[in-house]
Amino acid sequence: MSNTVDIAIIGAGLAGRLLAYRLSQLNYDIDLYEANQLDIKTSAQQLSAAAFTAAGMIAPISEAIDADLDTYFLGKSSLKLWPQIIRELNLSGDKKIAYQQNGSLIICHHQDQAELTHFTRKVHRLSQTCDAKFKTLDATDIKALEPDLEGNFSTGLLLEEEANIDNRHLMHALLQQCLANQVHLIDQATVSVTNNCVTHQHKSQTYQWVFDCRGVGAKAQLPNLRGVRGEVLRVESTEISLSRPVRLMHPRYQLYLVPKPNRQFVIGATQIESEDTSPMSVQSMLELCSALYSINPAFSQARILEQNTNLRPAFIDNKPQVIVRDQLVSINGLFRHGFLVAPAIIDSVVNWLQGKNCPNQARLFSFLEH
Ligand SMILES: Cc1cc2nc3c(=O)[nH]c(=O)nc-3n(C[C@H](O)[C@H](O)[C@H](O)COP(=O)(O)OP(=O)(O)OC[C@H]3O[C@@H](n4cnc5c(N)ncnc54)[C@H](O)[C@@H]3O)c2cc1C
Repeated sequence: MSNTVDIAIIGAGLAGRLLAYRLSQLNYDIDLYEANQLDIKTSAQQLSAAAFTAAGMIAPISEAIDADLDTYFLGKSSLKLWPQIIRELNLSGDKKIAYQQNGSLIICHHQDQAELTHFTRKVHRLSQTCDAKFKTLDATDIKALEPDLEGNFSTGLLLEEEANIDNRHLMHALLQQCLANQVHLIDQATVSVTNNCVTHQHKSQTYQWVFDCRGVGAKAQLPNLRGVRGEVLRVESTEISLSRPVRLMHPRYQLYLVPKPNRQFVIGATQIESEDTSPMSVQSMLELCSALYSINPAFSQARILEQNTNLRPAFIDNKPQVIVRDQLVSINGLFRHGFLVAPAIIDSVVNWLQGKNCPNQARLFSFLEH
C-alpha cells in the first residue's frame, strides 16, 4: 500500500539512492531525479557521482585522526547498519556485494617510522576518549595478515573494526532495488529546486517533501559548500592479493590501497583544495604509482584500468549536514566520508520524517527560517 506522502529526491548518488531505498521500503511515493543517464540493466558506471569514484572504505578510526568525533560516532553507527543493508540487497541480487570487515592495516617504510609513531599516538588518544580498538604489529604479524607484504614492512597497526565495500556494486544494487520497490526514476534530468518545487525543462512539480542530495551539484544553493578534488587509480594485478585496505604513512601524503573484486585495486587519493575536475596530474600519477611499487614491486606489472578525478562535497568544517528549510531537506557535505556516514545519516532522516526519536539530530540537523 502506498504511503500518501509524495517525495522527490534529487541526485541518485550515494545519499539519494540510500534514501530512496529506505523510503521505498516504507512505501513512500518517490520520484528520483538524476542529471546523468543511468544504465539500469548493467552496472554501467556513473562517474560524475563521487560515490562511483570512491574507494569504499568505512574507516571511522583512520578518518577520525584528521576529522572530529561526530564523524567517528556516525561511522560507528554506520558500521552497525551496513551488514543489514547488504543482507537485504543480497537477498534479491544475483551476485553478493563484497563487504568485508577485516580491519585496515596501517604501515610505513622504515624511513617514515615517525609518521606511524605519530599516527599511533593519535589512535591511542582516541581509544581513551572512545572505544577505538587497535593492535600494534611486528613483521611476523603483518606477514600473517597479508602474506604479499612480507619483507617490506617491520611495524604496523591494525584497526580491527574497519570495513570496506564494493561501492560500484552497492550503487547498482541500490538502484535495482529502488526500481523493484516502485521508485520512479527520472534520469537525464538536471533539475533546479525551490522549496518543495522541482523544475525540469521549464516544467515544475510540487511535492510534500523535496530531498536535495545533489552533492557538489547543490553548490549554487548552498553557498558554504565546496568541492575538494580527489584522484584515484584503479589497477588490476594477477600477482598480488590483499584481504583488507592498506594505508601507507608518508610525510607528504597519505595513501591507501583498497582491494576490489576481480583482482582490482583502487589506490588514492590526493586531497586538493580545488574544484578542477580535469584528468589526474603527472605528479599525482607518479606518486600513486611509486607508492604502489614501494608496497610490492610486483605491482609494476599491474595494468592501469582507470584514472579518475572527482569532487568531494564539503562544508567549511568538513562535517555532514541535514538542513531543513520549509519542505526542502538538503543532505550534503559528506566530504571524504560518504560510505562511512551515509547509513547513519539516512537512518536519522527517515526517523525524523516519521516523527520518531532521531539519535543524531543534534549532531546533524539545522532548521532554517524561510
Ligand atoms: C576520490 C574519492 C575517494 C573517496 N573515497 C571514499 C572512501 O573510501 N570512503 C568514503 O566513505 N567516502 C569516500 N569518498 C567520498 C564519497 O564518495 C562522497 O562522500 C559521497 O559520494 C557523497 O555522496 P552524495 O550522494 O552527497 O554525492 P554524489 O555521490 O556525488 O552524488 C550526487 C548525485 O547528484 C547528481 N546531481 C548533481 N546535480 C544534479 C541536478 N541539478 N539534478 C539532478 N541530479 C544532480 C549527480 O549526477 C550525482 O549522481 C571519496 C570521494 C572521492 C572523490
